Amino acid sequence: MDSVECVVVGAGVVGLAIARRLAQSGREVVVLEAAEGIGTGTSSRNSEVIHAGIYYPAGSLMARMCVSGRRALYGYCRDHGIPHRNSGKLIVATTPDEAGKLQAIQAHAEANGVEGMQMLNGDAARTLEPALNCVAALLSPTTGIIDSHAYMLALQGDAEHHGAAFAFHTPLARAKAVSDGLEIETGGDTPMTLACKLLVNAAGLGATAVARSIEGMPVERIPPAYLAKGNYFSCSARAPFTRLIYPVPEPGGLGVHLTLDLAGQARFGPDVEWIDEEDYTVDPARAARFYPAIRRYWPGLPDGALMPAYSGIRPKIVPPAVAKQDFVIEGPRDHGVSGLINLFGIESPGLTSSLALADHVITLANA
Ligand SMILES: Cc1cc2nc3c(=O)[nH]c(=O)nc-3n(C[C@H](O)[C@H](O)[C@H](O)COP(=O)(O)OP(=O)(O)OC[C@H]3O[C@@H](n4cnc5c(N)ncnc54)[C@H](O)[C@@H]3O)c2cc1C
Repeated sequence: MDSVECVVVGAGVVGLAIARRLAQSGREVVVLEAAEGIGTGTSSRNSEVIHAGIYYPAGSLMARMCVSGRRALYGYCRDHGIPHRNSGKLIVATTPDEAGKLQAIQAHAEANGVEGMQMLNGDAARTLEPALNCVAALLSPTTGIIDSHAYMLALQGDAEHHGAAFAFHTPLARAKAVSDGLEIETGGDTPMTLACKLLVNAAGLGATAVARSIEGMPVERIPPAYLAKGNYFSCSARAPFTRLIYPVPEPGGLGVHLTLDLAGQARFGPDVEWIDEEDYTVDPARAARFYPAIRRYWPGLPDGALMPAYSGIRPKIVPPAVAKQDFVIEGPRDHGVSGLINLFGIESPGLTSSLALADHVITLANA
């Protein structure tokens, strides 16, 4: 049986960042990816926002990974010429009742280590974004946008430069814990067996299935999997905004918000639709809920401007009734399987957090 020091399962943004860090630390790395190339899963179906780290529960892995990952990501983008823009974001209150909630959001963000949050009255917010309807707003200056594909290509390039190898069309089919690591069987056109000392399961929506396919992995340490689709609508009209615009969050989600791509094109979403099977179609009828939600902060949204765009699926590990989940990253000390690290529930802000998540995995690998 061939052997390699480390195997990373999944070439999404998180698997790529981990492969890069492992390779940079001098380890031999093979990345197994079921699809034909990098980043075809959730990593290419998101808002491409560099999140500041505002809402996540204090002390959670999401809060910590987002803040440190965001700082690292801006540095990486600058150093590697990755297209990005530190656009800033406004959280807008359209009623006095919502305005009362902004203070608590600011305090929470600051407790998470988010820098530079500023409270604005309605006029000050409209000085920044004249088309906005609001009574008050919270400015998050560290939020931004990124070309996620350019970022993933750079991570792949770094990983390969340090010797990592990529096997596409190569799903992990099953694995078995053995005394000095794991033995892996792959599927695909040319199935193979491979022994490794470290197996990192960064399979995104497939992470729980991968964990279940590992003989020796205690099933009680594998969380359940739920799918929460987020639908996006693009806008045929030019949206007159230069910053991202978010409503005050509502229970269960961030509300229908406006994000921009690097060309300045607006998109709205994602909403939250719990589904039973992977399905990326966007039902045009959902636009009916988007119009009134958007017009609360952008009354000028023209009739007929919204067009179904794309969707992404959040890999949830808690059911709909449970509002919040955290990233779950477990190594041998948690589940007892030597040489195995599982990443579960890597939903938003996984893109922003990717470099910090990779550092976290390295720490577990060295433990
Ligand atoms: C609607 C939506 C909006 C989001 N917006 C943002 C945002 O604005 N900012 C932000 O920071 N984050 C955002 N996120 C989160 C972010 O997109 C994800 O956290 C991140 O892309 C997860 O990357 P990943 O590498 O873990 O997973 P993925 O990108 O899904 O990659 C996993 C890979 O594993 C492969 N795989 C699966 N099973 C196997 C197997 N058995 N063998 C081999 N390979 C396998 C898959 O083919 C896939 O390529 C958003 C997520 C969603 C759903």
